[in-house]
Amino acid sequence: MVVEMPGYVCRIIETLNMAGFRAYAVGGCVRDSLMGVPPHDWDVCTNARPKQVEACFTHHKTLETGIKHGTVTVIIDKNQVEITTFRTEGGYSDNRRPDSVTFIESLEEDLKRRDFTINAMAYDGALIDLFGGQSDIAAGIIRCVGCPEDRFGEDALRILRALRFASRLDFEIEPGTENGIHKLAGLLNNIAAERIFAELKGILAGKGAGRIIREYADVFAVIMPEIKPCIGFLQNNPAHYLDVWQHTAMAVDNAPQDITVRLALLLHDIGKPEKYFVGENGVGHFYGHPAVSRQLAEKILDRLHCDRKTRDEVLTLVEHHDDTFPAVPGGICRLAARYGTQTLQRLFDVHRADIFAHSPQWAEKKIENTDNAQRMFDEIMLSDSCLSVKQLDISGRDLLALGIPEGKEVGQALDMLLEAVMDEKVRNTKTELTEFVIKYIKNKRIQPN
Ligand code: ATP
Ligand code: MG
Repeated sequence: MVVEMPGYVCRIIETLNMAGFRAYAVGGCVRDSLMGVPPHDWDVCTNARPKQVEACFTHHKTLETGIKHGTVTVIIDKNQVEITTFRTEGGYSDNRRPDSVTFIESLEEDLKRRDFTINAMAYDGALIDLFGGQSDIAAGIIRCVGCPEDRFGEDALRILRALRFASRLDFEIEPGTENGIHKLAGLLNNIAAERIFAELKGILAGKGAGRIIREYADVFAVIMPEIKPCIGFLQNNPAHYLDVWQHTAMAVDNAPQDITVRLALLLHDIGKPEKYFVGENGVGHFYGHPAVSRQLAEKILDRLHCDRKTRDEVLTLVEHHDDTFPAVPGGICRLAARYGTQTLQRLFDVHRADIFAHSPQWAEKKIENTDNAQRMFDEIMLSDSCLSVKQLDISGRDLLALGIPEGKEVGQALDMLLEAVMDEKVRNTKTELTEFVIKYIKNKRIQPN
C-alpha cells in the first residue's frame, strides 16, 4: 500500500519543511490512497501557524476562509489545498462546533481530535498511523478515535459521518462505535438541517445504503420522525414478505446509486401506515398511500432544506411510484412530455427497485408493465421523437401566417399538433403539419385575421 502524493502536495510539504515546519498530508486523502481510490482533494496539516503558512506561500494565491480554525487555502497549479495548523478543540456546548480551538505543536494531539481511525492517518513519505487506521481499512471497519460516546457527544454530526463512510466504503461499524450511535442518536436534533441533508445524500449514494437504512432505523427516525410508524409495520399482504421499513431498505438497495431515485425510494411508502386497511380474509391494503407519502415527503424535504429541483422531482417520483404505465407508445410519449425524459427514466428505476423488493412471484408478474414501458421509451428516445412543442417542425409564427389569430389559440394549436404527432396521426414535417393545421382551422371554424 503506497501513498502517491501529487507533485503540488510534495511541493507544499517541502516549502513548509524548508521554512523549518513539519507538514503532512492528512485525513481523507491518505485513507483513499491506501484504498487505491484517487483522492478528490488533498489536505495538509502542519505545526506552522496560519500567518506563518501565508508567509511561506506569498507567491501563491491564498484564501483565509477558515483562518480562525487554523485553515489557510493555498491555490497551487489550479488546485486548492487546505493547510491546517495542528489543533485541539475545547468544549462542545452545541454538540457540533468546538467552543474554541487551540493551536498546538503535536501531530499526535491533532490526529486524536479526528473522527475515525481511517481518517486519522498522516503521511510525509512515511505513514503515521497511531490508532490502527490501516488495519481497520484492511478489515473494513469504521471505528471512532477514542471513546465513541465522548466523540459523538462533542459533535453529533459524526454519527451521520460514520453511517456515510460505512455506506460509501461498504464497511462495518465497530460494535462500540455502533453502541455510541444508537445511544446518542437523539443529539442529531441539535444539528443544522443542511448538514444532516448533505450527510443523508452521502449515505444514500453509497453501496451499503440499504444495510445502513435497515440497521440504523432509529437514527433515521431522529432525522425524519415521520418514518417511525414504518419500522416493523407488517403488511399482511401476499405481495410483501417484508415490513414497510425493511421493504424500503431493500428497494433502495435495488436502485442505481442516484440520489434522486434513492431519496424517492426512501420516502415512497411512508404514507402506508396511515392508509392501512384490512380487507377480505385479513389481507392488508394501502389504497391511496402515494398521495400521503408525497405530503409527508414534502414536509421532510422542506425541513431538511432540500434544493427545489431535487425536491420537486422526488415528489413526482413518490406520487407516481405505484402508477401503471400506459400500454401504447403515445401514452409513454405523453408521460415523457409531462415529466421530462430524465424524470421518466428515474420513475422506471423507482418502479423496478420497488417491485423487486416484493415477493418474487408477485414481482415477476408486475415487472412486465414496467419492462414494456421502458422498451417503448427506449425506442422513443432512439427515434428522436418529438416530445415538446419546441421540437415541432412548425412554429407559432407559421401558424399566424396560416391564419390562426394571435393569443391563446396559437398555443392551443401547437399543443394539438404535439398530441397528434405523439399519437402518430401526423408526421413531424412542416408539409404534413401545415396540411393538418389547415384542416384543424376549418373544423374549428377559426376566423382568420
Ligand atoms: P471526503 O472524501 O468525504 O471528503 P474526508 O475524510 O476528507 O472525506 P472531510 O469532511 O473532508 O472528510 O474532512 C477531512 C478530515 O477532517 C477527515 O478525514 C477527518 O480527519 C477530519 N474531520 C472532518 N470532519 C470531522 C468531524 N466532524 N470530527 C472530527 N474530525 C473531522
Ligand atoms: Mg475531504
